[in-house]
Amino acid sequence: MKDKIVILILAVFILTGITSCLPNENNKDLSPISKDGFMLGTFVVIRIYDNKDEEILEKVFDRLKEIEDRMSINIENSDVSMINKNAGLKPVEVHDDVYYVIQKAKEYAEITNGAFEPTIGSLVKLWGIGTVPSDSEINESIKRVDYNKLNLLDDNKVFLEDEGMILDLGGIAKGYAADEIKRILLKNGVTSAIIDLGGNIFGVGSKPDGTDWRIGVQSPFEPRGNHIGVIINSDVSVVSSGDYERYFEENNKKYHHIIDPSKGYPASNNVTGVTVLSEKSIDGDALSTALFILGVEKGMSLVEGIEGLDVVYITKDNKIYISSQLEGKFELADEELELIIP
Ligand code: FAD
Ligand code: MG
Repeated sequence: MKDKIVILILAVFILTGITSCLPNENNKDLSPISKDGFMLGTFVVIRIYDNKDEEILEKVFDRLKEIEDRMSINIENSDVSMINKNAGLKPVEVHDDVYYVIQKAKEYAEITNGAFEPTIGSLVKLWGIGTVPSDSEINESIKRVDYNKLNLLDDNKVFLEDEGMILDLGGIAKGYAADEIKRILLKNGVTSAIIDLGGNIFGVGSKPDGTDWRIGVQSPFEPRGNHIGVIINSDVSVVSSGDYERYFEENNKKYHHIIDPSKGYPASNNVTGVTVLSEKSIDGDALSTALFILGVEKGMSLVEGIEGLDVVYITKDNKIYISSQLEGKFELADEELELIIP
């Protein structure tokens, strides 16, 4: 019976990407309180291991709902939808948090030389139909993609210069949401928690016994819950982007959801997954999307030049590249893969 319970608990953790925080036989109190739900277009789970107050979980989900209502492109009157409706017409005043995320998005567009592209919306919409668009459709859409035409004005006003431009915060807003959840948890005295926003993990503090979290990195080659390796660290955001979860197939070719803004096509290089470790999840989220597009060489050199960032790249030829600072904090879980540390 005990075995069965352990297997069940293991399965639950593996399903959500956490390989650790296994129950301690001597102290049943180490089990968390948790809440899950479908938010931001993904399955969200929050686990709190100390200061177990259900009200904190409620506060977290209320904040998530607020973020979704303001930043979703799918909600009719969200701030982002209002910016899009008024593209080419007039600036729109947005909430402080929306302004902050857009500011960050633009900053990352600049840092990554446009690989991260917050005005990617028209291309995302085109590819979202689920069939390969024609060249002329792509050429038309790509004209409406340019972060230089995303203007951040005084008094929280945001303006897209051309009609038909579409702001899309899908590559960054989940990161912001994770940071916000962490802030709420800390403010409420929580020092040990796991935030899981559809595989984007934040290990808040450390495990309840004071040791590092063990956070699994999803394998692009196997179904959800299988890991290529484990990150061993405390107080860390672990965000992944890949070509293996959101895609459609046409003529035996996969078309995924991360678009290379310079080509108008899903990014196509030898990368299949990338995981970014950072202190703030908003940075990890924007960068995971951009690093996927930039590829191993350019991506690695970008990461090595920014303090406090680490990366795990998984390539289609079964190689794992990790940034130098990650040595000792990453455990390979699949012996068929080759680990490369620069
Ligand atoms: P990431 O790599 O982090 O981001 C990929 C996403 O970023 C793409 O899906 C696209 O939106 C955008 N993107 C693509 N190329 C680029 C680029 N070059 N630069 C910048 N961004 C790019 N999904 C639904 O299906 N239904 C919903 O109702 C829904 N609501 C959402 C509401 C909010 C507030 C947010 C933030 C997301 C929502 N989503 C929804 C989107 C869903 O959760 C996405 O899958 C998610 O945001 C993408 O994150 P990721 O971790 O899969 O990949
Ligand atoms: Mg991202």
